Amino acid sequence: TIYFVDGLFMEKEEVTISIDDRGYYFGDGVYEVMKVYDGELFTSVEHLSRLFQSAAKIKMTIPYTETQLVDIAKELVKVNSIKTGHVYIQVTRGAAPRQHHFCEPATTPIVTAYAIQNPRPESKLQQGVGIKSVEDVRWLRCDIKSLNLLGNVLAKEEAHENGCFEALLHRGETVTEGSSSNMFGVKDGTVYSHPADTLILNGITRQVVLDLCKDNGIPVKEIAFTLEEAFEMDEFFLTSTTSEVMPVTTIDNRPVGTGVPGPITLTLQQAFISKIPLSVAG
Ligand code: PLP
Repeated sequence: TIYFVDGLFMEKEEVTISIDDRGYYFGDGVYEVMKVYDGELFTSVEHLSRLFQSAAKIKMTIPYTETQLVDIAKELVKVNSIKTGHVYIQVTRGAAPRQHHFCEPATTPIVTAYAIQNPRPESKLQQGVGIKSVEDVRWLRCDIKSLNLLGNVLAKEEAHENGCFEALLHRGETVTEGSSSNMFGVKDGTVYSHPADTLILNGITRQVVLDLCKDNGIPVKEIAFTLEEAFEMDEFFLTSTTSEVMPVTTIDNRPVGTGVPGPITLTLQQAFISKIPLSVAG
């Protein structure tokens, strides 16, 4: 497997990273995951622009242009012969002896990336998944796609230990998002999603789906709903780069609506699939 590390393409076995990398000490960095369908990057412009926004929010300058990063991603897809999978890109603030404040002069951020084969979760997309409510104890800048993922990791682990696909995060009564996805409820024909403020990551898939709602005449309300209201939704689904439009059939083992993927969810799922290459959608 060929990786991209600090300016060079190399075999995974040849990669070396400084023990003093601030990503390692502090999770001081940002990242992106973008999908590859039939050898082509999907919504790469949106992902790269979010990467640069995340970097700016933590006062970090990425030493490449968006175009250069897209070219690196494309090269990784090519040299690793990826058909359907994803590209992971991360940027850390760089290496310096451990101290919390930034270094002077500034460290040079380190960009690393890889591409990996990863099939679409087809049977889950058809059958739907179960999710588990977990208190959202993360910090208050969830709009930044930061490498600091301990809150997300612990939430996903709790869901996983309980046989669930994802955690339904809530701050007190308010549903925010998933540990690595955005959450949507459907009630009386309207799609509900937490507003894209600092409490959630504004998912690229979320944005695609909100556009698809418009295209399909499905009303959307970007307003927060409670955990109690989540249980009363007619339909529920989550979105992410790797999960696409994933129906949720149970929350805390209680069936959502009729307990099968709902009609609006399936309409949006089909509309999403129509945006990806036919050879992959099948
Ligand atoms: N929310 C969080 C916390 C995430 O980590 C992710 C993606 O990993 C998402 C939402 C979904 O974002 P996207 O659709 O851009 O993959």
